[in-house]
Amino acid sequence: MKQIQTTAFQHDLLTWYQADNRDLPWRKDQDPYKIWVSEIMLQQTRVETVIPYFNRFISLFPTPEALAEAAEEDVLKVWEGLGYYSRARNLQAAVKEVTADYGGKVPDTEKEIRSLRGIGPYTAGAILSIAYGKPVPAVDGNVMRVMSRLLTLYDDIAKPKARIQIENILRDLIPTEDAGDFNQALMELGATVCTPKNPQCLTCPVVSHCHARAEGVESLLPVKAKKKPPRTERWQTTVIVDADGRVLIQKRPETGLLANMWEFPMIESDEQSGEEALIDALTKRYSGIAVDHVTHTQQVRHVFSHIVWEMDVFLVRLKNRVSLSGDELMMPPEELTYYPFSVSHQKIIDGTIAEEVIGKRS
Ligand code: SF4
Repeated sequence: MKQIQTTAFQHDLLTWYQADNRDLPWRKDQDPYKIWVSEIMLQQTRVETVIPYFNRFISLFPTPEALAEAAEEDVLKVWEGLGYYSRARNLQAAVKEVTADYGGKVPDTEKEIRSLRGIGPYTAGAILSIAYGKPVPAVDGNVMRVMSRLLTLYDDIAKPKARIQIENILRDLIPTEDAGDFNQALMELGATVCTPKNPQCLTCPVVSHCHARAEGVESLLPVKAKKKPPRTERWQTTVIVDADGRVLIQKRPETGLLANMWEFPMIESDEQSGEEALIDALTKRYSGIAVDHVTHTQQVRHVFSHIVWEMDVFLVRLKNRVSLSGDELMMPPEELTYYPFSVSHQKIIDGTIAEEVIGKRS
């Protein structure tokens, strides 16, 4: 395997990072809880998007105890729009463990921290190095790209073996002092300089250590097998409004995609599904409803990591009044804002609800 001059590499990387790092709210102190929250939010999400979410989250739940005691619905509401909601549920479950088993102090050993819900090797390394200064690697996609290029590693980075190999290399490369800065510097280098396309090699602080650049192969690395394209699901999504002007919402199951989020009723459709089939399905699902008329109001497309939802939205006006309780509720449309909805259903609140239900009421 190719080698890097450890001390000179550490020096060049840290000098660059410490002179010019971004001013981010979770870097203001070394609070392990705040670092933890930020790292969970940053998974799959850009820094600029995370900042306002992080500030709001920490102002509402400033300590592990505050988060542990919060209602799950309030936590999901603050997370609304960030996506990957299981991150929020796992974070709260793990924080409950921290308050119950560790007196509210985030543990500082790899073994203990890795045992918490939702904490994998990357998050463990980030918290241990940034908050506690421990020389533990934190290998995310950015770091894998940087390391693959620096050392011309041609293993497929989608495979766990490649991540373990890079972790092992980094265990020898991380300085015992400044471990947190070193990890953050590598991530920052990947995010801002050694980018997936067109890496900025001419201004790169570690160009003199980079084997890919020396061999002119930086654009060929890292090697990453193509993911399967996401599968498309088609839904007829219904905004059902009863004679009192209230809207039907329901809670998703406790597990699986968007668990415990609220939504408008969805009926899986195919190319042939029409309004008649929709009314039929709704009256079977909600006995006692009497449909007055149905209008197609909106199309919404939402891409998850592995599924695409193509949603046709229908406004369904009822002739009668409906009473529901539990995981299905009839709500005045103005009160929908108190409930956590996923981004796709939020688009329906901003579209059909705002324009066709609230907007046309008077
Ligand atoms: S020289 Fe280019 S390829 Fe190498 S680490 Fe720097 S930006 Fe990445």
